[in-house]
Amino acid sequence: MPPWQAAVRDAVRDVAELARLLDLPPATLGAFADARFPLLVPRGFVARMRRGDANDPLLKQILPAPAEAEPAEGFTADPVREQGLAANGLIRKYGGRALLIASGTCPVHCRYCFRREFPYQAQLAARDGWEPAIAELRGQADIGEVILSGGDPLSLSNRRLGELLAKLADTAATTVRIHTRFPIVIPERIDSELVRLFDTTRLRTVVVLHTNHPNELDAGVAGALTTLRPHVAALLNQAVLLAGINDDVTTLAALSQRLFDCGVLPYYLHALDPVAGAAHFDVAERRGVELIGELRARLPGYLVPRFVREVPGELSKTPIF
Ligand code: SF4
Repeated sequence: MPPWQAAVRDAVRDVAELARLLDLPPATLGAFADARFPLLVPRGFVARMRRGDANDPLLKQILPAPAEAEPAEGFTADPVREQGLAANGLIRKYGGRALLIASGTCPVHCRYCFRREFPYQAQLAARDGWEPAIAELRGQADIGEVILSGGDPLSLSNRRLGELLAKLADTAATTVRIHTRFPIVIPERIDSELVRLFDTTRLRTVVVLHTNHPNELDAGVAGALTTLRPHVAALLNQAVLLAGINDDVTTLAALSQRLFDCGVLPYYLHALDPVAGAAHFDVAERRGVELIGELRARLPGYLVPRFVREVPGELSKTPIF
């Protein structure tokens, strides 16, 4: 078993164990049990959390909190209204691009995830050797870019990812974009076989990482990203603006700088999608606008992400600022 698969297998799934690892009394965490979207966090990510600090910004991203059980107006199971758009594991909501649900699993469960209630079993493109999804793509010559999403597409083994890339190379697409949190939470996922796949496909490969806080980017992650960078056409990051985690200019500026140190450009700062259970992470839009203004005063333009929101029915992300 490759080291990254062993790290998935050995991830922490028990709140009492997490508390022990962090030198916290279990009661401090105040966690609650969510059987449908339980605690899941790799040990390497836990190792980047501060011991004895129940407010650690990495811990807050993954700890099931009692606030998730409180209903909030406007926060729903399908916040960007994409579940009705999915067919054969494909979602067409953006012009010239198609989103392919490559995997229903993730290496970590992020509590603010907008797809935490997505019906993956009914909407996996992997059915029948990817054929229904590929057949649909072959019939759509206007699709230049296929976005691999999930779940996390790098949950696929290298063999299965290789099969998928080979089939995508047989469509009109010129670019494959991979949205992933894997290199951040389990950097061992960037192995020699994976970069060989990127080297050998005819498709241009764009990797969009998901990182929200500079503490996520330790030396192990920096090493993996430095390895990955020469094998892809672009290496970008999108973050989600999260209350109590990164809603201050010092943290966001440090995140941009640290990403740049690792060869990654900040691409989007995403306003939270209003998914049920995540209202306690919400930050007022005007505060996000203020933060981007403060970032512009501190950083070169290429380190200031675009502040965007997903608006159901729109053909692209909606820029806020
Ligand atoms: S890794 Fe991505 S898809 Fe998976 S739970 Fe986190 S935000 Fe959601």
